[in-house]
Amino acid sequence: RKEKRQRLAQLPCRTADGREIKLYGNIGTPGETERALICGAKGIGLLRSEFLYLSRDRIPREEEQYQAYASVLEAMGDAPVIVRTLDIGGDKEVPALGLEKEENPFLGLRAIRLCRAEEELFTTQIRALLRASEKGNLHIMFPMISSLEELRWAKERVGQCREQLIREGIAVKNKIPMGIMVEIPSTAVLAEAFAEECDFFSIGTNDLIQYTLAVDRGNDKVSQLYSFYHPSVLRLIRYTIEGAHEKGIPCGMCGEAAGDKKMIPLLIGLGLDEFSMSPGSLLEAREVIPRLDSRECRALAEQITGLKTAAETEQLLDGYLKKKE
Ligand code: PEP
Ligand code: MG
Repeated sequence: RKEKRQRLAQLPCRTADGREIKLYGNIGTPGETERALICGAKGIGLLRSEFLYLSRDRIPREEEQYQAYASVLEAMGDAPVIVRTLDIGGDKEVPALGLEKEENPFLGLRAIRLCRAEEELFTTQIRALLRASEKGNLHIMFPMISSLEELRWAKERVGQCREQLIREGIAVKNKIPMGIMVEIPSTAVLAEAFAEECDFFSIGTNDLIQYTLAVDRGNDKVSQLYSFYHPSVLRLIRYTIEGAHEKGIPCGMCGEAAGDKKMIPLLIGLGLDEFSMSPGSLLEAREVIPRLDSRECRALAEQITGLKTAAETEQLLDGYLKKKE
């Protein structure tokens, strides 16, 4: 039975009317790559690079980072591997950095903001990534982007690291796509402008929901307010996908909503190009998708756009999915 499931995992994944859906895996360490492959991931939609920094007493050196990225790229062959640059701060502490405690860490010096404040942290990681680029199909993704200046800064630093490496005689792949996490409402609202300056989007619903609804994603006391189905969140997702397509770039999703059975038909209807989820959710997504018709999904998305509460949205999505089971 396990073998049958594994064979199933290797087949292409299409809707009933033949639209191919890209299913990628989210991983938190290089060691999880194999599991993602066994579960049928056709790429890595999110490699969280924080593992290199967490629970350690020193900052990982370039060489150590290079080895880690290279191992994932090699294992994935030609398939895309989207490595997200450092996303610490917020709730993720790094003892080796000795950062000051902040009153609102999720609104503080997190991710790309921290990298701008501690530039060496960023350039070490970028150098390691660029060196590893020759090993596979590397994509670089910047987290917590809230303004165009941040994106421009990050891209400029990547350009500088590239030139430096070339001067040192180190080979770097010519074209490395660079994209952003869309996980802050300001970025979703300005999606078109961002799309003009990067190669891909990946929507991070875990944070997008937290920041849109002002609900701490880890606080049980308000967890009933945290919802994938809130119409405001859905509208931002829609803007983001439309903004990307307006400028001809693909839009994926690596937040938990991408692996939610009820969300999948809606996301197909909205035109999402790539779904990235924890490997454990991939098989379920593979079971659902072949039962869906993409035109029907588009009609569903239109219908959902008119709804005003999360409860109504969830009910409609639930009803649709039940019809398909
Ligand atoms: C997200 O915010 O949706 C996301 C994928 O990133 P993380 O959960 O690591 O913040
Ligand atoms: Mg996030």
